Amino acid sequence: MKFYAVIGKPIHHSKSPRMHNNAFAKFKARAFYGRYELESKEWLKEKLFSLGLSGANITIPYKEQALQIADFKDDLAQNIGSANTLLIKDQKIYAYNTDASGFLKATEEFSSAKNALILGAGGTAKALAFVLKQRGLRVSVANRSKERLKDFEAYDCFSYDEFSNFDFDFIINTTPAGLFDDTLPCDKNLLDKLFSKAKYAFDAIYGKETPFLRSAKEHKVQSKDGSDMLIWQGVYAFEIFTGFDDEEKIYQAMKEALFLI
Ligand code: NDP
Repeated sequence: MKFYAVIGKPIHHSKSPRMHNNAFAKFKARAFYGRYELESKEWLKEKLFSLGLSGANITIPYKEQALQIADFKDDLAQNIGSANTLLIKDQKIYAYNTDASGFLKATEEFSSAKNALILGAGGTAKALAFVLKQRGLRVSVANRSKERLKDFEAYDCFSYDEFSNFDFDFIINTTPAGLFDDTLPCDKNLLDKLFSKAKYAFDAIYGKETPFLRSAKEHKVQSKDGSDMLIWQGVYAFEIFTGFDDEEKIYQAMKEALFLI
């Protein structure tokens, strides 16, 4: 029997155990996936080993620490500066970033986009900005405060009061605005201007229609929420954990689990 877990703080809301356990069941794998709330990043490495895990998904606020404790780092994780998937093999830790690859897969239908604007400048924005640039898009990042924009020197950056150009075909919300409340990530007038030019919109928040997505729909902008990104990051993590590579079967198992009431 192998054991896996999602580790973060808080962790009670995570859908990952449900998704991975359903996939294990479909593949008749002798494995169990749980969750662990970790109090401090200092204990991450020790916990991976003391819990006897063969792999883990790491979530907020420990993704940077997950990369730091790894013995081997996948190029994508190394370039982004954080990891959400750890494989433990022969007492060594291997780090990957499947949030980034999951986002790319989830937004394949938007692949004609050329000029992306990311709202928010946190960890998710870093991963998405990197892979979008790698895919050949021009990437800009906007945030309510200037402080965090310092981490985005490789991109065009501005705070919300500094906009002069509204010409982006792909608008991405990586802020939690709309997750627990009914707010937009930025001023409504600004978003209206952006959506009047945009073709595509993506919200990293999943499982609800946020005010950001509602506004995109009102402007007839093709849009989707973060559910597929969540599922695909899980699919790629599952492949790393188990070596199974029937992506469609893993995807269906995880999707089924995610949408169970
Ligand atoms: P971080 O805390 O690292 O960054 C959040 C960013 O959003 C910061 O730039 C912050 O700005 C900004 N922000 C926070 N609150 C507001 C607000 N009310 N209005 C405007 N801006 C705001 O978070 P993450 O990047 O790790 O995660 C962001 C979102 O992405 C979360 O909602 C998370 O659930 C989602 N996510 C989804 C995934 C999926 O698979 N679908 C995977 C990973 C994340 P400031 O610097 O000014 O504080």
